[in-house]
Amino acid sequence: MKRRFILKFKRNTIDKPIVYKLAKDYHLVFNILRANISPKADSMMVLEIEGDEGDFRKGLEYLKGMNLDVEPIEQDVKRDEEKCVHCGVCASVCPPNALYVNKETYRVDFDYERCVACEHCVKVCPVKAIHVYFD
Ligand code: SF4
Ligand code: SF4
Repeated sequence: MKRRFILKFKRNTIDKPIVYKLAKDYHLVFNILRANISPKADSMMVLEIEGDEGDFRKGLEYLKGMNLDVEPIEQDVKRDEEKCVHCGVCASVCPPNALYVNKETYRVDFDYERCVACEHCVKVCPVKAIHVYFD
């Protein structure tokens, strides 16, 4: 299974190898989609985690026991290809560059795997081509 989560770290947990242990002890594959780390304040990370169901469950229990908030990203963002006019506005506000201008075609491509469901693109699209769906 594969899911995306927002991890919120308290200031005193940022120096611990929490994410590394997901791979080492729980055999989970993780992909860091976005991170905002500060030694002087609370930090956050958006992770995509993939693995067997049993390992996945144990890994999540481990994270929750490490004094950090784990929030699943339950929204799914989809673009209506018929409506999109490739104006590029959404690409300018997308933090992880999931929406980006393809330098060869000059069209706006959508890399779903990088999307962290922040909804910035939904608010700015002039033709309302992007929608959020809830699990
Ligand atoms: S803002 Fe809307 S119309 Fe413009 S490229 Fe993005 S999805 Fe397409
Ligand atoms: S919701 Fe839109 S702006 Fe936010 S990461 Fe996904 S594609 Fe980018």
